Amino acid sequence: MYYSRLADTYEELEKTPAKLKKSGIIARLLKESEPKEMGMIVLLLQGKVFPIWSEKELGIANLLMIKAISSATGFPAQKVEERFKRTGDLGLVVEELIKNKRQSTLFRKRLMVEKVFGNLQKIAEVEGKGSQDRKFQLVSEIIGSAEAKEAKYIVRTVLGELRVGVAEGIVRDAIAEAFFHENERKEAINAIEWGWFLTGDYGEIAGIAKEKGLVGLRKVRLDIGKPIQVLLAEKSPSLIDALESFDECAIEVKYDGARVQIHKKEGKIWLYTRRLENITKQFPDLVELVKKHVKGSEFIIEGEILAIDPKTHRPMTFQTLSQRIHRKYDIEETIKQIPIQVNLFDVIYLNGKSFFESAFKERRKVLESIISEVPGKFQLAEELITKDLQKAEKFYKKALEENQEGVMVKNLKALYQPGRRVAGGWLKVKPTMENLDLAIVGAQWGTGKRAGWMSSFVLGARDEKTGRFLECGMMGTGLKEKEQEREGDKSRLQSSVTFQNLTKMLKPYIESDKGSSIKIRPKVVVEVAYEEIQKSPNYESGYALRFPRILRIRFDKGIEQADTLKRLERLYEQQKK
Ligand code: AMP
Repeated sequence: MYYSRLADTYEELEKTPAKLKKSGIIARLLKESEPKEMGMIVLLLQGKVFPIWSEKELGIANLLMIKAISSATGFPAQKVEERFKRTGDLGLVVEELIKNKRQSTLFRKRLMVEKVFGNLQKIAEVEGKGSQDRKFQLVSEIIGSAEAKEAKYIVRTVLGELRVGVAEGIVRDAIAEAFFHENERKEAINAIEWGWFLTGDYGEIAGIAKEKGLVGLRKVRLDIGKPIQVLLAEKSPSLIDALESFDECAIEVKYDGARVQIHKKEGKIWLYTRRLENITKQFPDLVELVKKHVKGSEFIIEGEILAIDPKTHRPMTFQTLSQRIHRKYDIEETIKQIPIQVNLFDVIYLNGKSFFESAFKERRKVLESIISEVPGKFQLAEELITKDLQKAEKFYKKALEENQEGVMVKNLKALYQPGRRVAGGWLKVKPTMENLDLAIVGAQWGTGKRAGWMSSFVLGARDEKTGRFLECGMMGTGLKEKEQEREGDKSRLQSSVTFQNLTKMLKPYIESDKGSSIKIRPKVVVEVAYEEIQKSPNYESGYALRFPRILRIRFDKGIEQADTLKRLERLYEQQKK
């Protein structure tokens, strides 16, 4: 395929914000592609030259690119730089410069996708002495043979600034649209996504879709050494909610570190983060631990890495650990300064068998059978199998006292579903912020099932200086419609808080009632839990609570005892730390 066809597609994608249309545009391009080009085209569409998990980088910065543009177009580097300062986009600069030099493009051989892709791959491969010169030659060569528009997109790709808005979901839908008839498309989308979860490479998946169809896609298997998309957790509002979600569950410490996916095959070990970055080189200490303390010739296991304070032996912050993750040199030194601990919690593959279809109970047993623990260093995630709230709470408290984030409540019967936040799998429980006692200062009339009741209550914090209540959030959740719906709810929410009885309580205090919006005199104080405090120009107080939920009505508090704007500010500052 001519690279100009790809450049036209980039341009069309840039002009088209609608996702649905974007996948249509890509589907057309994929249909025209030869099988051997498919992988390249899919990667290039996403602005990539290597799949997400590859360690390879192009390593061309603006300065070298300015030199390359200058050499390819014949304009002095100073001129390129001046224009760059004005536009901030070397893609636009090269486009303009080539347009100004029209005559020289007459006898040019047309650029092929394969040539561009090949040169970009080579750029990442050159190493050592003279590598900058070689990179410079490779990039100048393709810019030199490019038309204005083509050069713009080449430069943006090399600098990692393509931004034509091709998210993974769009590629998935485009592959389905290109190679499957409408009546099998839904199935195809699932199969394509599954393939991507396992390979992290839509290029490969597109090739399989075109050549081998659904049968081929269903045969895609994981490939040890290439990371897979991992199982994700859902959030639970409380420990008791989590415990009640499953027939049988395990409670594990939720370690406050970084997830690691560990692969081994033919004596070689790979380590990947949750975002599929390859961190094998940064953690030779972990590679050694895996070699010595995991039985099995081929496996994929998962755990959480923590940074450990060498003096106190207590976990250190995630920021400290991330220094190790990003350190590319002086690694031996960093290992001493920031030693690690790994807590293992799952197994995905062992000696020829994958465990996607196995219940967690079984997976944990397998994991226990292959790990020889090194206490404090390389161990199984601490676990308690119980449904008893008191025991679970004790475990949770201990986890928090040890500076961990909270607990994970895991369904012992759940299967391993890569790439998904599955209902019925893992539930994370961690403390939310300190609750606030706020006044209700407004509401909206509900509609539909809730017609005649107030819903979406506006919360206000007291401004000590003026005595006024300033709005700081809007809340509709945490409430049930009627009393009986709360029956059997053993959570700490008070059963008396429903839309109905809050409406009754607030009605006498209505100040004004315009359309669906009601202003209410601050009289009723409620205790509110929330996710975080954000700065917000939308509320008078300047702050907005994120995801506020009502816990109970504070009958014991008058509005003078409601929380103040000052407390809100203080909590906001604390949270920033
Ligand atoms: P979150 O990032 O809040 O969605 O929580 C999920 C993350 O918690 C996982 O991706 C892991 O990195 C981390 N985690 C810590 N401890 C565990 C554990 N025992 N089981 C599973 N994940 C854990």
